[in-house]
Amino acid sequence: MEQQKILIVGAGISGIAIAKHFIDRGHSITLIDSGINRSSIIAAGMINPIVFRRMTKSWRVDEFLPYLESFYTQFEKECNASFFIPITIRRMFSTEQERSLWVEKQGDSFFKDYLEALTESDDKFDAAFNQFGSGRVKKSSYISASIFLESTKKWISQNQTLIKDTVDYNEIDPVLSTYKNNFYNHIIFCEGVEVRDNPWFQNMPINPTLGETLTITSDRIIENESLNRKCFILPIGNQQFKVGSTYVWDTYNSDITVAGKAEIEKNITYLTDSPYTVIDQHAGIRPTTLDRRPLIGTHPSFSNIHIFNGLGAKGYMLAPLLAKEMVEHILDGKLLDKEISISRLIK
Ligand SMILES: Cc1cc2nc3c(=O)[nH]c(=O)nc-3n(C[C@H](O)[C@H](O)[C@H](O)COP(=O)(O)OP(=O)(O)OC[C@H]3O[C@@H](n4cnc5c(N)ncnc54)[C@H](O)[C@@H]3O)c2cc1C
Repeated sequence: MEQQKILIVGAGISGIAIAKHFIDRGHSITLIDSGINRSSIIAAGMINPIVFRRMTKSWRVDEFLPYLESFYTQFEKECNASFFIPITIRRMFSTEQERSLWVEKQGDSFFKDYLEALTESDDKFDAAFNQFGSGRVKKSSYISASIFLESTKKWISQNQTLIKDTVDYNEIDPVLSTYKNNFYNHIIFCEGVEVRDNPWFQNMPINPTLGETLTITSDRIIENESLNRKCFILPIGNQQFKVGSTYVWDTYNSDITVAGKAEIEKNITYLTDSPYTVIDQHAGIRPTTLDRRPLIGTHPSFSNIHIFNGLGAKGYMLAPLLAKEMVEHILDGKLLDKEISISRLIK
């Protein structure tokens, strides 16, 4: 295939994953980002294969996990950076029933890749409140979001075109397929919640969900596992931890709040009474959808205009493989699965 010129709007995890796949296939990309990142930069970046609330496997996790591991580790080599960090997640049980459910599922072949069988040391684990015992999740990890975004953007700026600017929709001509009079074979919008101003996709049902995290420091909380109950405590090195996160629906205001800090600090008390100091607080807005599935696809009237959005609370888990599927849809005409495609909105 002849080399194509691709314009990508937005350099969060979505835009960067899309850019990487086009570059790997030999195409030329221009990535424009306003720098008002709403979500990817402050995300904890955790990859947890288990949804604890319902004790189920995360959607399509058997496909996403192996793919994301090779995607991030390959990308690390290319950027000469380290941002993919395997870490055990330890779930502290809240009730006897929760423990029993884990025991029931740990022997089930459907779960065996992700749940460690409970041991005596899990029951005796004393680095957090452990009234009902605790279980370890296998194959969990996190992406250090700030290192990921900084190093991958640097790599893109060295090999392709990265521009810090806000795309002016009035400068896009969808018929001529130009932006500021420059031709692009395809224009892909990866704007997170900012899509609400996009004239081609502003009716997409992407809902804003505010989330806050704290960064704390403590010399008493364990650093080799991420603890989870009501909240997560994720060790990020140098006796620092990310803790979160909150969920507030239907707001575009991403200011940090006193209520967010109080909620997270209350949730910490369910895990530990170790002393800590809060050193930072962040807020971001997740691009969520009601059916918890991404919104990906091509504009019904313009075959050169596309959207990649709606990754919700799991952008770092979903983006690598879904970006591959999107790029194959654009370049090879492969059909997108109805579950992720914007075509599901058309009655
Ligand atoms: C508190 C919190 C914790 C989270 N924790 C996790 C986690 O542990 N694991 C996980 O996988 N996910 C997590 N997430 C979710 C994750 O952050 C999102 O799924 C992901 O960031 C969505 O990425 P995105 O690239 O689609 O959108 P965004 O990150 O919002 O990026 C969109 C980009 O587009 C740019 N943009 C928009 N409009 C324009 C325009 N007109 N011109 C130029 N640029 C534009 C913006 O500047 C921005 O940089 C968390 C989110 C929050 C808020």
